Amino acid sequence: MTVTIENLRDRVRGPVITETDQRYDEARRVHNAMIDRKPWVVVRCANAGDVMAAVDFARANRLDVAVRGGGHSVPGFGTCDEGVVIDLSAMRGVRVDPVRRTARVEGGATWGDLDAATHAFGLATTGGIISTTGVGGLTLGGGIGYLSRRLGLSADNLVSADVVTADGTMRLVDEDSEEDLFWAIRGGGGNFGVVTSFEFRLSPVADIYGGPMFFDLDRAGDVLRFFREFIAEAPEEFGGFPGFHLAPPLPFIPQNRHGLPHQLVVTCWTGDVREGEQVIGRLREVAPVVAEHVGVMPYPLLNSAFDALVPPGLQHYWKASFVRELTDESIEAHITYGARVPSVNTAVHIYPINGACHRVGQDGTAFAYRDANFASVIAGMWPDPADNEANIAWVRDFYAATAPHAEAGGYINFMAGDDQERIRANYRQNYERLAAIKRSYDPDNLFHLNQNIRPGMA
Ligand code: FAD
Repeated sequence: MTVTIENLRDRVRGPVITETDQRYDEARRVHNAMIDRKPWVVVRCANAGDVMAAVDFARANRLDVAVRGGGHSVPGFGTCDEGVVIDLSAMRGVRVDPVRRTARVEGGATWGDLDAATHAFGLATTGGIISTTGVGGLTLGGGIGYLSRRLGLSADNLVSADVVTADGTMRLVDEDSEEDLFWAIRGGGGNFGVVTSFEFRLSPVADIYGGPMFFDLDRAGDVLRFFREFIAEAPEEFGGFPGFHLAPPLPFIPQNRHGLPHQLVVTCWTGDVREGEQVIGRLREVAPVVAEHVGVMPYPLLNSAFDALVPPGLQHYWKASFVRELTDESIEAHITYGARVPSVNTAVHIYPINGACHRVGQDGTAFAYRDANFASVIAGMWPDPADNEANIAWVRDFYAATAPHAEAGGYINFMAGDDQERIRANYRQNYERLAAIKRSYDPDNLFHLNQNIRPGMA
């Protein structure tokens, strides 16, 4: 059956944007400016009914479907050429239930939307470290941030979800209904349908103690060797990570340091402040701190502190690995390439994912690397397309130097588009079950513009 654009317009409440619409250029764009695609139509959905109509329209016309939450996918999975973009950016409502300690979040909300709404009640759940990132893509791939060691991944805090599957029907999924689908969306990415609403468990997190600490590059070995021992035992209230950055031109950083490579540790402590001062204070005994901005602040403030470093319009190329043991060789490779960070926007981060993340079994959700201690990312980001070749080469060389000391898989949300052959490795023993669930819910692989799990053989 053919469904025309006019039929679609009659069925939906949100705008249906095509090439002739003056909103088209803005509507086809995603966060990564390297991505320049021209969809046939962008459906800016107003509600779940619009999503169902857009899925029906794409399926009936055999068109590619891109689903866009926050639009931050580095490979640009939130847009496509010639197909349909299901744009959820107008669906950002959040409702907090402070008694049950849960939040209902629409599928296009950002972490800034969710953090602001839950902070009003002194509550939070694990989100990413940048507030403009989408709750949708981040949660579906797992979700790593300051609270992961204490509360688990974002996906571990998911209580239920409303999912529009490839047949255009809406499924309400939780531990007791459509368990397979609920299992698959906690790590399996956007493969199984469009989530129009997520329900999260919240925990008491209001103000935190923490912030960034910059160290001299020549002390990076001492800091990283200390950190790997420290984090193995650190209380789960500690949720920070080490990394490498060029020092940005901020008032708390001495001017003569601006633009120079540094080793940093971003700290976040969600327990008693005095205890946090002691725990974080241990870092100051390892090496002199060149600059720091550590103190008590609202959790959403830390969670948006780096937003200015990653505005829309940058070029992005990223590589990722899971790491069980941060070996001396890996530390040396990090220092070698960390010293050559090519842009102030670029981030090299080594996120600890032990603690509460390890309390979920390898097959408890789709996210399979429950024995990894770190998710590391080389996030190349720079403004000028003329620098693409040099920046991409740096990311690739860095990754090649660290990969022998890492696991075969990497966190799908940190992977580039040319990493599709690593997807099976990412899911390890869970891949077969995911492929079988994909076959049940999306046998024709309608949702294939993602870190794709192909429908398994019957
Ligand atoms: P989109 O591009 O909109 O979507 C990404 C994928 O998810 C696509 O395949 C899309 O189809 C699918 N998707 C999105 N929403 C839905 C939905 N509602 N239903 C079904 N499918 C959906 N990750 C972390 O874990 N922690 C971090 O701290 C972190 N920081 C980041 C900072 C920046 C600047 C960037 C660019 C990325 C960061 N990431 C982080 C990675 C992030 O998790 C992924 O880029 C994620 O895919 C972004 O989700 P999105 O909704 O913004 O992206």
